[in-house]
Amino acid sequence: FTITALAFAFAIGRYQLLDLILVARDNLIEKMTDGVLVIDTQNRIVDMNPSAQKLLNITTNTFGKPVEEVVRKWHQYEKESFNFKQAQTEIELGGKPHKHVDMQVTSITDNKGKSLGRLIILHDITKLKLVQNELHILANSDSLTGANNRGHFMELANREIQRAIRYKRGLSIVLMDMDAFKGINDTYGHACGDQALITLKTICTKNTRKMDIFARLGGEEFALLLPETSWEKATDLAERLRKFLEDTVIKADGIEFKCTTSMGVTEFGIQENDTLETLLHRADKALYKAKADGRNRVIVWKPELE
Ligand code: GH3
Ligand code: MG
Ligand code: MG
Repeated sequence: FTITALAFAFAIGRYQLLDLILVARDNLIEKMTDGVLVIDTQNRIVDMNPSAQKLLNITTNTFGKPVEEVVRKWHQYEKESFNFKQAQTEIELGGKPHKHVDMQVTSITDNKGKSLGRLIILHDITKLKLVQNELHILANSDSLTGANNRGHFMELANREIQRAIRYKRGLSIVLMDMDAFKGINDTYGHACGDQALITLKTICTKNTRKMDIFARLGGEEFALLLPETSWEKATDLAERLRKFLEDTVIKADGIEFKCTTSMGVTEFGIQENDTLETLLHRADKALYKAKADGRNRVIVWKPELE
């Protein structure tokens, strides 16, 4: 045993095995792309690797400084996960564009379980967030006009209806359908038709509030949902939008042309047990009447339209 022990001791010393482990660990932490921070029980920074400095945009010496000075929203994180031995959260850091970071915090304890501090690992997820945002936009909008698509509109409209019921606020809808659009395509070509749809979207989004919800429900049919708006106000707005489109010269493919749209207006809650479906149904009836009366006009729903 003695000889073996001596042989081991000699080997460890001769080949600097213990040093190697420490050097390897140091190297690993120094060269890691993830940021590593160590804080003591008073939340003071005791160690930090270069990646953490880069992520947190730190140039000065931070040793001994409280962690909340370098990690924004640390207080919020503390409140949410103070009692956990291990916690994970997403935080947003400053800079342009804003950096998104996945933060993992693990308690460091001694052999007896006494807390010595915490280990914080910061993983940059900015690129992932950008892709997530792009996917979210792609899934919710129409690729031609950039307006909300039908699915997203139904989701947002249902939310607005719940809000209108809860706060007893007015809520109106304007349903639009391009006039003789088949003719636009046949006369000027599909690219011109596409440009007309984009033009209507631009007019409707530029001349409405941020809270209003504009969507392409399909083909050449659009909807504009107006929270906190009576049918009278919605009709005035629809009339302005209709006139705007009528007066706009659209240019595409070297061709200049004009086009018009018909609109149906109704307000939520004017019938008992109103839902998004019944609201859309009434707006559709009014739109149908606008078409029957000669197109390029705004019609408000009335019971006799049923
Ligand atoms: P009305 O005034 O009665 O609404 O007549 P309309 O010709 O507009 O009605 P219809 O529903 O018969 O035709 C709609 C046309 O819209 C047919 C379709 O080819 C065209 N359309 C649908 N989506 C698009 C699109 O994304 N781009 C273009 N250029 N045309 C489209
Ligand atoms: Mg149509
Ligand atoms: Mg049409």
